[in-house]
Amino acid sequence: MMRAVTIRAHGGPEQVRVDDVPRPKLQGPHDVIVAPRAGALNHLDLFVLGGLPGVTHTFPWVMGGDGAGLVETVGEQVTRVKPGDRVLLNPGVSCGGCDFCLGGEQSLCDTYSLLGEHLPGTLAEAVRVPEANCYPVPDTVSWEEAAAYPLAFLTAWRLLATKAQLKAGETVFIWGIGGGVALAALAIAKLLGARTIVTSSSDAKLARAKTLGADACINHRAQDVVQEVRRVTEGKGAEVVVDSVGTKTWETSLKVIARSGRLVSCGATTGPQVTTDVRRMFWHQYTIMGSTMGNRREFEAIAGLLARGRLRPVVDAVFPMEEARAAVERLARGEQFGKIVVRIA
Ligand code: ZN
Repeated sequence: MMRAVTIRAHGGPEQVRVDDVPRPKLQGPHDVIVAPRAGALNHLDLFVLGGLPGVTHTFPWVMGGDGAGLVETVGEQVTRVKPGDRVLLNPGVSCGGCDFCLGGEQSLCDTYSLLGEHLPGTLAEAVRVPEANCYPVPDTVSWEEAAAYPLAFLTAWRLLATKAQLKAGETVFIWGIGGGVALAALAIAKLLGARTIVTSSSDAKLARAKTLGADACINHRAQDVVQEVRRVTEGKGAEVVVDSVGTKTWETSLKVIARSGRLVSCGATTGPQVTTDVRRMFWHQYTIMGSTMGNRREFEAIAGLLARGRLRPVVDAVFPMEEARAAVERLARGEQFGKIVVRIA
């Protein structure tokens, strides 16, 4: 048996508990059992907690998509890692055999699954993953930082670098700075030499974003977002807009895009139904694109940037595993600035 953060039924944070559950065993020759030292929460964990259409969970369900830890045991054909290695986990598991996998686009895999959503998660003393999901992490990176990194930075890297093809000198507009993907997008945009405009309803979060290098900050509760973006871009708008909010922000997102700009959608935390005025879309010739998670090449890129100290996640708070419910409550209240980490003893 092992200790794990589990959900006993769908509902709110009151359903989160720390339980003894069976320890995972190696199944295939390419499996690896990793003992996470830390895991991190994502908005996805709240969706899993609440229940997702089309995804069936067996209870107790082990939570968590993000994690980093030590390799414990390896299957007989594993060559990538060995017991004792420090690794960072790619939360996306792909089949390796479908057309998308063969073409190197693992996040488009026919059976793409995520740790903590479709497969038992990382907030446990052990988790089973394919060896392809393990990436070395040097000891210059703390367990907390390593655990806080994968999902948010993989998502933000694919959407800005691969999908939007963000170039130096362009302006990126990012909603809701404080969330994991938003902060990752800020860090990546700066690395790529872009100018950044961020929003929040909290002046304290905007002040912290400024210290991380945000070029312009907008309080979307107190200020007119469209007017402010026009003002700071001298009427041009932002070449790239990152929207993971959905219903509440979509129409404004479409008004702050520059002509020929790109809107990248990677989430819908306030709801999936949106309205688009297609006349504006063709007249201003902007592109709307979707992006989710990332492929192995992209994971390799972000893992390297973390190892070399070029990108670092912001850690909001670290909770011991036994207090995981308080960690989930903090996420549900949206108070965090950065990632909420769960330390696994
Ligand atoms: Zn596949």
